[in-house]
Amino acid sequence: MDCIFCKIVDGAIPARKEYEDGLCLAFHDVNPQAPTHLLVIPRQHLVSLAHVEPEHAALLGHLMQVSADLAKKLGLTNGFRVVLNSGADGGQTVDHLHVHLLGGRAMHWPPG
Ligand code: 5GP
Ligand code: ZN
Repeated sequence: MDCIFCKIVDGAIPARKEYEDGLCLAFHDVNPQAPTHLLVIPRQHLVSLAHVEPEHAALLGHLMQVSADLAKKLGLTNGFRVVLNSGADGGQTVDHLHVHLLGGRAMHWPPG
């Protein structure tokens, strides 16, 4: 399978890792959209939020918990945003589920 995030999980492509455990990996986005921009991804290949099943609920909860822990660790005390782009209209460009953790500046609403 030709998945860039699976290659990062496998170590075939380097990434600036901030955290990893048995279920997930967090690394800095190569094209950051905020002073802090991490991607939190499951080690397991899941295409998107549109592809999850009830059996993945605990894994999704873990990604949220890790995102919150990283926001705290990185000092995002003034707030932060988590985003899951899903599918073409959602703006997803890498088809391996990932949580964007953005912080260090004020975000706008609605998103573009
Ligand atoms: P999406 O558009 O699918 O929601 O987000 C994909 C993100 O992955 C983008 O923000 C993009 O900058 C990031 N990205 C794509 N390729 C790489 C890579 O090889 N390394 C890292 N660190 N980030 C990547
Ligand atoms: Zn993958």
